[in-house]
Amino acid sequence: RFDENTVIVVFGASGDLAKKKTFPALFGLYREGRLAGSTKIIGFARSDLSDQGLRERITPFLSYDKTKQAHVKALEEFLALCSYHRSAYDKPDGFEALEKKVDELDAASGVAQSHRLYYLALPPSVFTVVATNLKKYCYPGSKGHARLIVEKPFGHDLDSSRQLQRDLAPLWSEDELFRIDHYLGKEMVKNLIPVRFSNTCLGSSWNNRYIDSIQITFKETFGTEGRGGYFDSIGIIRDVMQNHLLQVLTLLLMDKPKDFGSESIRDEKVKLLKAIEPIDVHDILVGQYSRSADGSKPAYLDDDTVTPNSRAITFAAIALKVHNDTWDGVPVILKAGKALDESKVEIRIQFKPVHTGIYENSARNELVIRIQPDEAMYLKMNIKVPGVANQVSISELDLTYKDRYSSEFYIPQAYESLIKDCLEDDHSNFVRDDELDVSWKLFTPLLQYLEGPNGPQPALYPYGSRGPDGLADFVKKHGYVYEPRDRYQWPLATPEGINPSKF
Ligand code: NAP
Ligand code: NAP
Repeated sequence: RFDENTVIVVFGASGDLAKKKTFPALFGLYREGRLAGSTKIIGFARSDLSDQGLRERITPFLSYDKTKQAHVKALEEFLALCSYHRSAYDKPDGFEALEKKVDELDAASGVAQSHRLYYLALPPSVFTVVATNLKKYCYPGSKGHARLIVEKPFGHDLDSSRQLQRDLAPLWSEDELFRIDHYLGKEMVKNLIPVRFSNTCLGSSWNNRYIDSIQITFKETFGTEGRGGYFDSIGIIRDVMQNHLLQVLTLLLMDKPKDFGSESIRDEKVKLLKAIEPIDVHDILVGQYSRSADGSKPAYLDDDTVTPNSRAITFAAIALKVHNDTWDGVPVILKAGKALDESKVEIRIQFKPVHTGIYENSARNELVIRIQPDEAMYLKMNIKVPGVANQVSISELDLTYKDRYSSEFYIPQAYESLIKDCLEDDHSNFVRDDELDVSWKLFTPLLQYLEGPNGPQPALYPYGSRGPDGLADFVKKHGYVYEPRDRYQWPLATPEGINPSKF
């Protein structure tokens, strides 16, 4: 097996990401038989913890079914694989001791080649020093293979991102580096390539002849809730748009790669990114949440950890233009916000209307790809209303995963999927250096404008609303046609069925 005898070292093992995502992902893989029993996992951090202390810290976050004997057994076995190594990040001795530990583990397994996965669940301020010490003291060289996973943020803007690249590049090659954008591990994001390129009916209409507008939306029902201090200098654009939504966009719009190897896929993603025109400041709408209409939920500025009068952006809608033969003329709206009316991440592709004839007023086809929650894909279509009526109304071809697939079906969490890819040395779902560079080139001028002295005051929107008042006009201006619910026959699913008097 590809993962046999791998030693995984989680740096920052005492932290939030490690306990909420990294260890749970490793356990999820183990529970499902996707991580070999010969794997060893070492948590590395400065905190005063024992092996047992680490196990107790992570256990509440490991997901398993207590009624299933196999799960309970997997939990015990997994915890036995985990140990703790206490060390500073900037002193050689802790790394030398780590090297000795890994050597001993390799010797005990009797392996000729050492396989290591180093996972940096650390703040960016220590990325470089840890990457340097690992290369210096814990690099197997010709006696094995090492990979380094790094977490966002990969810089704060183009300059800082380039600085990070310059620091890491002499130490770790692109083949050894895995930059995680966990959206690339989400089931429906991984589904974009198969769906686009294995269905001719979609492939043939995936262009500006048939598609009118595209929206990629991220919505959250909660605000910063006491973590505003962290968010204040970041804002929603850095938090989810420059990385997650842009990654989704590239997979959605890139040309077909010459093969499905990771470099070919990433080449096409970069080509697409380069075709995006610089963002026009007239094509944006920015907002910040105020108190909820009933006063029960706080405004962003009510958060004590936030700079007074902060202009931090908690909502943004940005219309992008992709300048190539396939996408010229199709607006692509990225939309993201906190403290909104619902939590969801979805893609909405609206097709062109019927131009002539008796159906020219019928609704546009719309393909919705729901990334979370509840993975689904539905195509809104016009059909004749069943029965004697002759009108058409909107219905849908609906692939809702929880209805179509058994709940026993294992859909890996994003981090599980990505760690598995990394262990298989598959880079397709990790961000390449040039991809990162182009994405910062696109967003840095916008961020400089928004955060500069002449930046706009974000429009206030109430906590729990759809966003700023101008949103409906903004999406309309950029090509999206909203069909009010009463034209849609989803209520067919209700016990009352269809109301014939409507037709
Ligand atoms: P964290 O809890 O603040 O830090 C992880 C560990 O790093 C801490 O337990 C601490 O361990 C050590 N550490 C913290 N500050 C340090 C400093 N200034 N100098 C040296 N060591 C320090 O961070 P996190 O939330 O786990 O996030 C880790 C990385 O993942 C960050 O880059 C973050 O942006 C990214 N990320 C996090 C999440 C999330 O859900 N939390 C999601 C996506 C990306 P010791 O003191 O014990 O050494
Ligand atoms: P929808 O709620 O009608 O939303 C459609 C789009 O219109 C969203 O982009 C929404 O914006 C926007 N919108 C909502 N109110 C608006 C307003 N006042 N002005 C301008 N734009 C507005 O839902 P849908 O996804 O098209 O589906 C219709 C129905 O089908 C829903 O009841 C849905 O639950 C159901 N359905 C669900 C599934 C499933 O989840 N598996 C499958 C098939 C059908 P935002 O993006 O800002 O929210």
